[in-house]
Amino acid sequence: MARPLALCAALALLALPHLGHASIVTSTPPNHAHFDFVVIGGGTAGLALAARLSGHPGISVLTIEAGRDNRTDAATQSLLEFGGVLGGPLDWSWATAEGRTIDGGKTLGGSSSINGAAWTRGQDAQYDAWNALLEPEERAVGWGWSEDSGLLHYMQKSETFHAPDALQRAQLNASHSVATPVFLALKSRQK
Ligand SMILES: Cc1cc2nc3c(=O)[nH]c(=O)nc-3n(C[C@H](O)[C@H](O)[C@H](O)COP(=O)(O)OP(=O)(O)OC[C@H]3O[C@@H](n4cnc5c(N)ncnc54)[C@H](O)[C@@H]3O)c2cc1C
Repeated sequence: MARPLALCAALALLALPHLGHASIVTSTPPNHAHFDFVVIGGGTAGLALAARLSGHPGISVLTIEAGRDNRTDAATQSLLEFGGVLGGPLDWSWATAEGRTIDGGKTLGGSSSINGAAWTRGQDAQYDAWNALLEPEERAVGWGWSEDSGLLHYMQKSETFHAPDALQRAQLNASHSVATPVFLALKSRQK
């Protein structure tokens, strides 16, 4: 029973109401502290969720991450290092029955800290085809693409899009948002 707790205790990210959006990264969270929400896993989804929750005044959030804070590690910062982290301590390297491994980031930021940094979405028709397979009451939840109530709406709520330069702007359509937790940038064409 103690094992999951020991695993989870590696790193905690606290977002406290009196600090507004501010957060603290610590490996020794305060004893007997109470939080309104506890998010397990400080990866792409977990941190986006925690950031949005802690944006509400008066709400405190604890995010528990199994990995460490490797934000200053060049391996998590440089796209040129991409691939070098695979199989190392920042990679869960989950074993499969076929003897292969599945990669996943074991560090603050999760897989977004070790991935190729290309922010990819499926095609709208794929989400709509997926939605069409569901029972009517499940479809009503909004698993299709729709801008108003479907997945595009929630994808936009999870990201902050850094505006492109004039040339890039000329090449992009207006399908991204600019005010939410996951920060995006365009890859330079010179690299
Ligand atoms: C090598 C690689 C390259 C990729 N390249 C791209 C790309 O270029 N473009 C793209 O769009 N997508 C890419 N992806 C996929 C993308 O990174 C993931 O889909 C996305 O980050 C998943 O987000 P998530 O929040 O579901 O999981 P993650 O970001 O993986 O977060 C899960 C977090 O939970 C933590 N955790 C797990 N178990 C526990 C526990 N028991 N207690 C506490 N914490 C725990 C993990 O350590 C991790 O930090 C790539 C993924 C990998 C692995």
